[in-house]
Parts: sequence; structure tokens; C-alpha cells
Amino acid sequence: KRSSPAQAEFYQAVEEVLNSLGPLLETNSHYQQQAIIQRMVEPERQIMFRVPWVDDNGDIQVNKGYRVEFNSALGPYKGGLRFHPSVNAGIVKFLGFEQIFKNALTGLPIGGGKGGANFDAKGRSDGEIMRFCQSFMTELYRHIGPTSDVPAGDIGVGAREIGYMFGQYKRLTGRYEGVLTGKSLLAGGSLVRKEATGYGTVYFADYMLDERGDNLQGKRCLVSGAGNVAIYVMEKLYQLGATPISCSDSSGTLYHDSGVDLRLVKRLKESQSCDLVAYLDTYPEAIHTPIADYPKDGNAVWRYAADAAFPCATQNELTLSDAKALLKNGCQLVSEGANMPSTQEAADAFIDAGIAYGPSKAANAGGVATSQLEMAQNASMQSWTFEQVDQKLKQIMKDIYVRASDTAKEFGQDGNLVLGANIAGFRRVADAMIEQGVV
Ligand code: NDP
Repeated sequence: KRSSPAQAEFYQAVEEVLNSLGPLLETNSHYQQQAIIQRMVEPERQIMFRVPWVDDNGDIQVNKGYRVEFNSALGPYKGGLRFHPSVNAGIVKFLGFEQIFKNALTGLPIGGGKGGANFDAKGRSDGEIMRFCQSFMTELYRHIGPTSDVPAGDIGVGAREIGYMFGQYKRLTGRYEGVLTGKSLLAGGSLVRKEATGYGTVYFADYMLDERGDNLQGKRCLVSGAGNVAIYVMEKLYQLGATPISCSDSSGTLYHDSGVDLRLVKRLKESQSCDLVAYLDTYPEAIHTPIADYPKDGNAVWRYAADAAFPCATQNELTLSDAKALLKNGCQLVSEGANMPSTQEAADAFIDAGIAYGPSKAANAGGVATSQLEMAQNASMQSWTFEQVDQKLKQIMKDIYVRASDTAKEFGQDGNLVLGANIAGFRRVADAMIEQGVV
């Protein structure tokens, strides 16, 4: 920690995994003899590059680009690209490290990687975004390929950005191939990929409740975020008879007691790219809390009474005080759509309280799993129907739940899905690394 104090999120993610591994390492000394942990925390390769581009005024802008190819024991590096001003080497490393175990948990043949840039798309024109994406790919293309490293989207990277990057890759290489996932249907994308992370997070919640003899019908749910993951969490919640009563963005939190009007949120965020405060023009009875008015020790979105919580915005958006407020108000379930949204202390509070708690690397793995289904369709030159892909997604989420839950039971910690997911993911990657020698 002392040598790299700047990578706080990376150390947080490593610590969470290592804290879970004690019971496994005690009875399996060969993992230590093989220096698996020392090897696993070091990325196989990290690429950092300059992304120069020209803005609409003719001025030259420069951003930092990253791709961390973390672990390829189970398959090609797989993980998204994040474009957000907060992106730095530590954030990309934390996301890449998490991705290794998440991908292993899906049971599919994919390794772990992540990338991005500290690019702020807010206020940028479509032309500027295209030129940025083209410049980013002009360096990235030499490091990726359909059987070596297959990036996808993440915060700030949706179908539009993937489209511009795919176009540039094709132009540079002359190859039309499945080198990115999250592509549009016209470029070989898969049905359900757009919805997959959100839908998967809700399927996971449903499996957790099912084991407790309960279901989502009639549940009032707090959701954070208003992007790709949050929108499709809300859509699936409505489909399963639950009611999302909040969402949030980087300007603040929106609470609507009778249920969020999803069509309006989609229009505001997807078509008009405006802040959620504009929701009040249609529903003056809803409550909007700007970030400046958030409690000092947390996030306003978690301070309302609800049965369930779905954090879907960003890392560390749910603190210990938020967790205490949720538990005090009767929350019985947390299913994480975002990556590492709960601080370590908040996660511990959920586990100690014994509520149904689905950590991100299990609960949000539906996105990457469906990306792998997109790769499979591209490789076989086929397109599956919405129902076929959705059915496979449901089954994968069930398998992930069972793997995490059975592993927790195997180590005498029934219901602790953090421990179960970490051990199950680690064991699969570690065993593959040992089979492949000292690499
Ligand atoms: P989007 O860019 O589509 O949406 C992100 C949402 O979160 C936006 O509403 C954004 O607000 C808000 N947000 C982002 N950063 C902050 C911040 N620092 N403070 C407050 N609000 C913020 O991203 P996704 O929905 O794709 O990603 C959300 C989370 O889900 C991330 O943690 C991502 O890593 C994770 N994830 C995504 C997957 C995917 O398939 N897309 C797969 C697995 C995990 P605003 O609208 O104002 O920008």
C-alpha cells in the first residue's frame, strides 16, 4: 500500500477478495506455494497511452487512455471501457481485478481486463465524441483482437461510442470481426446485451429471494444511477411486479413515491442528456435532492424507506451510514448493479445483518456473460432471438447464484455471497493458472 497510495480503489478491491480467501488457503497450501496471489494481483500487462484529438474550436485536446490486460488464464481478456473524468490507473486496475473473478464466476471462457480514458463527454458534440473515439482506437487497435482482448462498454461508453470505435478498428485493420461487444444490431451486436446487466441484477435478486421463500412482487425498490444499468434494472423490476421509487445521476437524487416514470427518465437521459431535475416539470410532486444537499456521510438516495436497494451508478456510492439507514428502514435485499458500489464497511453491515446481499461481481455479471454470448454469435456467424439470449442470461444468473451460495455453504458461511463469490471465482482462475505453469 505504501508504494502506491494513489490506487485506493484497487487496494480496496484486492483487500475484499483476500479477506474472503482465508478458509480456502488454510486447507489448500499449494495456492501459496505457487505464489498465486502474488501473481494474480499483478496485471499481465498495462497499456497507457496518449489520446490527442481536435475539438470543434480547432484546439488540440489530450486525454489519458488505459487498457489493463489483467488475467488470461480462462480466456481472452474481457471487460469494458469507461470514459469519465475520474478515470485513472487505480480505477482501471480495480475494475480489471474485479472482472477476473466475475468472469470466472459466469463459468464462461473469458479472462479479465478493463480500460478507459479520463474523457468528459458532458457538453461535447457528436463530432467531438467521434474524433475522440477514433483517436482512442488508433492506439488501442494494436492491442486487441477477437481471440485476445475484447473490450465492451461501461460508464460513458454505450452503443454510439462502441460504433465509432468499431468503425475505426475496421478501417485500421480491414477486418469485420467481433473485437468489441455491445455493438449495434447492424454491426453484429446481440439482442439483450443492452438490457443484460440490469436484467441480470434483478434476476439475481429474485434467486436470492426465492431461496428465502420470497419474491419481488410488490416490493418498493430504491435504485441509484440513471444510465444503462439503472434503466434496465427499473424495467425488469416493473416487469416482475416491483416498484422502483428512486433513481439518481451526477446532479442528484430523484424520489417518486408512486413509482418512477421510466419512459420519462429514458427520454430525459437517453434522448435529451439532461439532469434528472427536469423530471419535476412533469411530476412536481416528486422530490429532487441536489448533490450539494446530500448528507455529509453518504448519499440521499439510500435515506428513503424501501424493501430493496439496487445501487447502479458507481463505486463507493453506498457508505456505512447509508447501509445503517437502509437496514433501519427495513431493507431486506441489496443487489449491486454497479461495480463495488458499497464500501467495505457497508458490505460488512449487510452481511452481519443477514439480509440478502448480492455483491457486484456476482449480481452484475449478466452484462459480461451476454457479451460472451455476443462473441459466440459473432464467431459462429449466427444471431439468436431475444428469447434465446434472455433464457441463457437467466440460466447463467442462476448458475452464478448457485455457485456463490454453494461455495459459501461449503465453507460454513451460509448466505455470505461475498465469500462464496470470491472463493468460487478465485479457485477457478487459480486452478487454471497452475495448469498453465509459471506464467
Ligand atoms: P452509464 O454511463 O450508462 O450510467 C452511469 C450513471 O451513473 C449515470 O446516471 C451517471 O450520471 C451516474 N454516475 C456516474 N458516475 C457518477 C458519480 N461519480 N456520481 C454520481 N453519479 C454518477 O453507465 P452504466 O450504467 O453502464 O454503469 C453503471 C455502473 O454499472 C458502473 O459501476 C459500471 O462499472 C457498472 N457495470 C456496467 C455494465 C454494463 O454492461 N454497462 C456491466 C457491469 C457493471 P450522469 O447521467 O449524470 O452522467
